[in-house]
Amino acid sequence: MTGVMRLEPDLAFIQKVKQVGGGDLKQCMQCATCSITCKLTPADNPFPRKEMILAQWGAKESLMADPDIWICHQCNDCSTKCPRQVRPGDVLAAVRAFAFQHYSYPSFMGKALASPLALPILLLIPAVILLGVLAIGSEGDYGYLFATGGEVDYAHPFPHGILEMLFMGGNALIFAFAAVGLFRFWNAMRSTMPAGEGPSFIPSLIAVGLELIPHSKFDKCEENKPRRWGHLLIFYGFIGAMATAGLALFATVILQELGSPVYLESPINLPNPIKILGVASGVAMLIGGWMLISKRLAAKDYSGSYQDWLFLIMITSVGLTGMLAWALRLAEIPVIAYLDYYLHLVLVFFLLWYAPYSKFGHMFYRMLALTFARSIRREAGESQAA
Ligand code: SF4
Ligand code: SF4
Repeated sequence: MTGVMRLEPDLAFIQKVKQVGGGDLKQCMQCATCSITCKLTPADNPFPRKEMILAQWGAKESLMADPDIWICHQCNDCSTKCPRQVRPGDVLAAVRAFAFQHYSYPSFMGKALASPLALPILLLIPAVILLGVLAIGSEGDYGYLFATGGEVDYAHPFPHGILEMLFMGGNALIFAFAAVGLFRFWNAMRSTMPAGEGPSFIPSLIAVGLELIPHSKFDKCEENKPRRWGHLLIFYGFIGAMATAGLALFATVILQELGSPVYLESPINLPNPIKILGVASGVAMLIGGWMLISKRLAAKDYSGSYQDWLFLIMITSVGLTGMLAWALRLAEIPVIAYLDYYLHLVLVFFLLWYAPYSKFGHMFYRMLALTFARSIRREAGESQAA
């Protein structure tokens, strides 16, 4: 980082970083053991020592625009070596969690997702909308929902066409809002870091995307290697679940409406490849979510932030209710199956509609920060062009 830094200490920010898992960052004595330990930090202006002093000073604006907080993958190799037990890896995670709020658009959504008090109303929104869908699908006849035996047809209370409208309409809006936040973040990074001589945006983005496929940066971790597998399972489980929903809609509804003589009857069953993909994705989310939850429960000195827990519980619950919906349909227990499927949809729409403001959003922020870092050659083993 070059030039003069103007400090505007934000005391509330210091408190929030401590509250969301930053611990007692005032104990840091700037020994730089953490920066020496970190395998992901560049040689010039290494992190996380400088972020520790910025956090101590309450230099919120500098930290929010700092791509280095996103190069960190929270392996916590540095935390185990810190002589003051400050846990710099967790401080950077707490600062990242704050970034969702800082750049969010509209900003009240960022604040809502960071507050446990707002959770009931956030859940109520998809819950009420889906009850409206159920009312339309049921056309005034609700008796089938309470049957204790017989065929289960989820498309009856929740018609595919309406769900897809909610899915696509909601996602278009959400991606537009997310783009505003990411654009602000990009401009903030550009204003504080010098332009480099690295590759331009698209080649940098492609290179970062190729790293993301195997989550190769996690491989440099020593202390927390299993996190890579938990992340990979959740990542591919969610992508697989989204692909399953899209393929099922195409095969059962769109092909039929296009007049194709070849289409699938709903529901799709095993051993159809679309069903295999759906089951594998649900299992992956469930196992990946549980791996990360159990790791946090076992940690003695780090409990994680509210946003971490919310995301992990939501994604694991999506996997669990999705698998249960399948099992209960096969078992033909309508009354529990419809209730479970309703809960499943509430959780799915919660994850999707609030994605830019939740831990989900961290994937987009990290990709953008890593793209920026690559474009200015700010990576481990490279010198930053100045
Ligand atoms: S966080 Fe710990 S290791 Fe890093 S500079 Fe501070 S005291 Fe040293
Ligand atoms: S948590 Fe890992 S990646 Fe992050 S600063 Fe510490 S050593 Fe580096």
